[in-house]
Amino acid sequence: MAKGRTRGNAALAVELDVRLNPSAWKNWLEQYWEAHLATLAGQWTPSTHASRTQVPSDPGLVWFESKPSPEFYRKAVTGEVALDAVPEATWSAGGLGIIGATAAVAWPLDVSTWEGIAWRQGHDTPRRLDEGIMVRLDRDPRLVACRDPRKGRSLLAPRGTSPVLFGLRGTDRSAVEQGVRDLVEAQGTEDVAAVCIFQTNQGSGDHLPPALEATVEKIHILRGGHVALETSVGTWLAFAPSDELRHLAAQLTAGDVVRGLGLVSQREGREGLHLEALNHVSGPIRNRSRPLCPTCDVRMKSAGRGQGLRCPSCTHREPDRWVGTPVTPSGWVQPPLDRRRHLAPDLGAR
Ligand SMILES: [Zn+2]
Repeated sequence: MAKGRTRGNAALAVELDVRLNPSAWKNWLEQYWEAHLATLAGQWTPSTHASRTQVPSDPGLVWFESKPSPEFYRKAVTGEVALDAVPEATWSAGGLGIIGATAAVAWPLDVSTWEGIAWRQGHDTPRRLDEGIMVRLDRDPRLVACRDPRKGRSLLAPRGTSPVLFGLRGTDRSAVEQGVRDLVEAQGTEDVAAVCIFQTNQGSGDHLPPALEATVEKIHILRGGHVALETSVGTWLAFAPSDELRHLAAQLTAGDVVRGLGLVSQREGREGLHLEALNHVSGPIRNRSRPLCPTCDVRMKSAGRGQGLRCPSCTHREPDRWVGTPVTPSGWVQPPLDRRRHLAPDLGAR
């Protein structure tokens, strides 16, 4: 995990056709940086994740005459990148924010979704969003998760202090634009200060390496309800807040074949693959027992090592075997919508 969490969560890139001579353009960039961004350095925002150590913001601004290699984008979203490993920009200013900003410019846009953001006019009152429009938007398959089906509450509005009123995500640009317009113009929605539609890497799964397949060897339930799976390819961790994913991990047994998606962490005490999706593919039968004797309906017993099964009340014999419930493949199981990371793809929809 990145120490400063500078994955470029808030990074933006804009393609500009500049009709200024290079020195005039650099002057403009200097002035813009000083007036709008340099002053944000060192500011803190309260996090909704109470346990997470907060790092003061360290913004950055970069200008590239030509697009840097998409290789850098992949490195930045799948691992930890140091400032000195960043491709050199034509012009740049600031600190760690340069990493995310450069990754945003280098993004190849292979898989993208759309997000419309609306900003608030004031920040101290509870957010007001039109319920009726949200219910309607939630039924549009081109839009992503407007409401949390478990809690019936909106996923559009950020929790905590933020100038953002809502973010509406979707796979189709026009559906997002129309949805934002409908929500902004609705009776039950407060007045907004501005809206903008972004093309984003959210839901792209770009941060995940390809799925791993492994055989489960041992299961440990850890303090706090987290589950550690010892597998043929190392330790996999399912954290308690991941809910259904954690429950699936806890009921696995040695010999089960599983597939996992996630990022490998070296964090002390939490080393291993941090699961963002888990798929139980196959495994030994559950509720295992010996078959019943076809004549007496009595459960058969082992006649000894390599001797097959025998009925305790008649002479019936059978080759050694077990009966029980076969494993039903689980498909991809992910944490609840509101606990997924930004880039997590909706695997159920694939
Ligand atoms: Zn019998």
